[in-house]
Amino acid sequence: MKRRELIKSGALLMGAVSLGGIKTLYAEMSEIKASGRMPAIFVGHGSPMNAIENNPYSMEWGKLGLSLPKPKAILSISAHWLSYGNTKVTAMEWPKTIHDFGGFPQALFDMQYPAPGSPEFATQTIELLKNSHVLADQSWGLDHGTWSVLAKMYPKADIPVYQMSIDYNKPIEYHFNLMQDLRLLRSKGVLVLGSGNIVHNLSQLKMTSTPFDWSLEFDSLIKSHIDKRDFISVVNFQNSGSLAKMAHPTFDHFLPLIYILGLADEKDSLSYFNEGFDLGSISMRSVIFGGDV
Ligand code: ZN
Repeated sequence: MKRRELIKSGALLMGAVSLGGIKTLYAEMSEIKASGRMPAIFVGHGSPMNAIENNPYSMEWGKLGLSLPKPKAILSISAHWLSYGNTKVTAMEWPKTIHDFGGFPQALFDMQYPAPGSPEFATQTIELLKNSHVLADQSWGLDHGTWSVLAKMYPKADIPVYQMSIDYNKPIEYHFNLMQDLRLLRSKGVLVLGSGNIVHNLSQLKMTSTPFDWSLEFDSLIKSHIDKRDFISVVNFQNSGSLAKMAHPTFDHFLPLIYILGLADEKDSLSYFNEGFDLGSISMRSVIFGGDV
């Protein structure tokens, strides 16, 4: 199902971006190069305009792409591919670029991200998830949750990319548990990318870079759970009641984080980047679980 970003094209305002921790992050990237095990990354994607703008968020994506060891393939779990009743994995040779938004400049609709797919890793992924009856898909492609980030991270589009859908009918813990069976992909050179936002309420956007109090509170709450490796509390985020409902009227942009948490283990290093907010109600906080095991 295609989901539209409702952010108006001219409305992008930059929040305060903390670049703290970036030096540490890149030091850890060097360790990953030595180990050969790929990190698992959650990226706050925000507005599709990040694909064509050079702003502090998108520039960090570019630096990240240069810092990582080159993946053999990228598996993206995007907030913008929801399925209902089963999980699907794209298995085509050449995934199309999907422009699943409205109200943006023509330049964004003209964007193409011509990366090859990876039928080989798609098959391996489905095999690893054989107990979950995951299906191969030939009809989706790369939605903007994937290509808006990768256009900056890997502008040459020379790394195979495939996507896995989010079965929106399943309970939250299903998504976390599903990924336990995919940890092996990290050792095979696959970079798994979750693309969503830790706070995402499009009905509350405002023309200021100052986040709402509830945006800050929910973002800080989730960070504190992650810092403690208390992933179960993140899975149970609805326990925060009205705060969770404000941060996520729907869950689509939060679920990709759950997938990445499912891939992390105790020994993974933990780093954050792009710790800022757009338009008051979109957290751009991004998380890397390093592969230095
Ligand atoms: Zn989105």
